[in-house]
Amino acid sequence: MPFNLSLAEREHAGLKRVLPAIDRVDGRWLHAGGRQYLNFAGNDYLGLSRAPELLAATSQAARDYGAGAVASPLVAGHQTIHRQLEHELCDWLGLEAVMLFSSGFSANQAVIKALAGKEHTLWQDKLNHASLQEAGWLSPARMVRFAHNDMSALEKKLKPAAGLIISEGVFSMDGDTAPWPGLVELARQTGNWLMIDDAHGLGVLGSEGRGTLDEQGLAASDVNIFMGTFGKALGVSGAFVGGSRALIDYLHNLGRSYIYSTHLPPPQAAAVLAAVRLVRSANDRREHLRARVAQFREGVAALPLQLLPSATAIQPLVVGEETATLRLAAALKEQGLWTGAIRPPTVPKGSARLRITLSAAHTRADVQRLLDTLHCVLQA
Ligand SMILES: *Cc1c(COP(=O)(O)O)cnc(C)c1O
Repeated sequence: MPFNLSLAEREHAGLKRVLPAIDRVDGRWLHAGGRQYLNFAGNDYLGLSRAPELLAATSQAARDYGAGAVASPLVAGHQTIHRQLEHELCDWLGLEAVMLFSSGFSANQAVIKALAGKEHTLWQDKLNHASLQEAGWLSPARMVRFAHNDMSALEKKLKPAAGLIISEGVFSMDGDTAPWPGLVELARQTGNWLMIDDAHGLGVLGSEGRGTLDEQGLAASDVNIFMGTFGKALGVSGAFVGGSRALIDYLHNLGRSYIYSTHLPPPQAAAVLAAVRLVRSANDRREHLRARVAQFREGVAALPLQLLPSATAIQPLVVGEETATLRLAAALKEQGLWTGAIRPPTVPKGSARLRITLSAAHTRADVQRLLDTLHCVLQA
């Protein structure tokens, strides 16, 4: 047998993954196995996935365009609804041009593999998402990883005009933000390019929810490549890459996961367009989310667990050991609360954690129930 499919070792180490059988997710509720749970594991930070505006846009576009795009974008798939969404994204974020992808994972593959040749270097934060690191390893470029958010470590590793620095807006498993003014400064000084993956900042941070750059007083034009996803705060799925017209024209020609993949289904593009319009004026939802984050952090300070320095919707509680993390998640589940138990290799060894995510859909009472239950199960 050429392949060893045994998972025994992973199971023994508390690292085996099992797909949870969920019936459906409905706003702040998650239904599974005939029970209803409060959901603290989703990425629907603004509670938009069930917004009537998104549902109406989806069904209208299905009637107008059909269920699928039926072709890749360069062949016959790129329709009016796609261009309307691109236009709205440019207007919202101050970008010259954008292109759409069916997932953030494939967007990152397209960009990095299309740009990076063997003469280039990619400098990546050690905590960058798997899709960024994987694209880097698979590209012919030299991959250099720098200590998380450590600008002096990065500075020591940089070479002039040799490639691309990549970091995230909000780190997906830690909830902290990268120091973008420092990254912009280093890229300028050394003549390198800069890319942001703002999957978790978009919609949540900045004025009109423009994301981490705006929050930190920067513009989209301060980076060369602006990548964001539609599957988190926008409540749908898919992604975009934005930048100069020249960059997007280049990726239309050389971004393989764009060229050789069916275009976004029109109902999905319509839902994202409706979501962006909502997000731009969703200050009330962002305010409500900030209040829940503050409430959670205040209530959790007394617990014997490490709370990471995060001001965003992602509030991880570091347990450390894998099986202890699974036990804690199971105890919360028993009490009707669904959280994510995140283990290596998604996070560094010894830092297994509950990834608790808050949403504007949660009420004050929901967060209080989470806090009370955490106090209870940790004392038991
Ligand atoms: C979720 C995520 C992605 C992948 O996006 P999908 O659209 O879910 O494939 C990429 N980067 C980061 C930082 C993410 O959190």
